[in-house]
Amino acid sequence: MDQFQADILAIAAHRDDVEQTCGGTLLKMADRGYRTAILDLTQGEMGTRGTADDRAREAAEAARLLKCGWRGALDIPDGRVENTYENRLKVARVIRQLRPRVLILPYWQARHPDHATASPLGYEAAFLAGLAKLDLGAPPHRPFKILYASLYADVRPTFVVDISEQFETRFTALMAYRSQYEDQQAGSGLFPRHEEIRERVAAMAGYYGLLAGVRYAEPFVQKEVGLVDDLLSLPVQSI
Ligand SMILES: [Zn+2]
Repeated sequence: MDQFQADILAIAAHRDDVEQTCGGTLLKMADRGYRTAILDLTQGEMGTRGTADDRAREAAEAARLLKCGWRGALDIPDGRVENTYENRLKVARVIRQLRPRVLILPYWQARHPDHATASPLGYEAAFLAGLAKLDLGAPPHRPFKILYASLYADVRPTFVVDISEQFETRFTALMAYRSQYEDQQAGSGLFPRHEEIRERVAAMAGYYGLLAGVRYAEPFVQKEVGLVDDLLSLPVQSI
């Protein structure tokens, strides 16, 4: 691994989870000059379509589109993401190496057990990463802020990020996973599945956008309360 350091690190269970839940936000932050990174916990070897190698190439292309400076994948078994000490150490090593100020994790309740488990696994790894006496070969580091990307969960977000300008690129990044999203049975050259996915992705982003009065947005939950200095600069109209 190189010496890249990140302002923001997004961790998710599977390649393409980040594209679906917070890819627009990562792109927006990269456009603002922040260094972004993605850590996928698994390599996708259990996927019905394509191989882990296909997914690695697709993930690299998606990261390029999102202007992400670093992307890595651990060797945790796909479909068996478990919050073990061994896995926490693997994640903690990456956190120490990248030294992010902001850590984005999946929301802790999810239909897919890998998504749900990735959340406490990431949180506890962030804690371990800060322990001075734990020797992991890199200096201790703990992220300042942990945010939970909640798009997969039916939960009211603490805040949303306006991704109206980033929506198209984020969708293109998702479609970089050709082995997953192209309709491989269709012989017509058209991709009905592609259209269906676009409709669904736009509906979700549009819903969260509507909550804040913008076109497209991505939802996040934070456990801490918000802190405000200036009441007159608060966004989102009430009435
Ligand atoms: Zn997933």
